[in-house]
Amino acid sequence: MERTLVILKPGCLQRGLAGEVISRFEKRGLKLVAMKMVRLTDEVLDVHYAHLKDKPFFQWLKDGMMAAPVILCCWEGHCAVQVVRDMAGATRASKAVPGTIRGDYSTSAQENIVHTSDSPENAAIELERFFVESDYCFYDSPLDAFKYAPDEI
Ligand code: UDP
Ligand code: MG
Repeated sequence: MERTLVILKPGCLQRGLAGEVISRFEKRGLKLVAMKMVRLTDEVLDVHYAHLKDKPFFQWLKDGMMAAPVILCCWEGHCAVQVVRDMAGATRASKAVPGTIRGDYSTSAQENIVHTSDSPENAAIELERFFVESDYCFYDSPLDAFKYAPDEI
């Protein structure tokens, strides 16, 4: 099944929203297969946000991501990348639809609670950036038959 990276950003942790955000993904039926709390570095953020390096807000973005620890999560499920991306909502949280994570907890373009991978290809690259094989836990999901059709598992 598909896997995607979620980063609970420093503001998510500091505002006490981590449990709430994790709970949303759990309730949607996604499976948590890896998780760790880390402090991100300037070096890894240069790579992770390379597509934004020429933007005027690049340093602010990196400073915000280093302002407190983050929680890295790998979620697994049917169409996990798109499902998680849609649950996060629009990047510019002031435009994010209510009911999405950003639409419920932020109005900021920068401090928008979560990072989510934007494609299966980038999810694979990003998961490799932050996790090693031994970070993953493999365990049975006895409710899968109640969550998915046979061809979705
Ligand atoms: N960002 C920002 N200002 C902007 C656009 C993006 O500060 O005008 C930050 C924001 O924290 C966003 C991150 O840069 O989550 C990465 O931007 P991207 O376009 O990849 O958006 P995302 O994939 O997070 O929705
Ligand atoms: Mg992005």
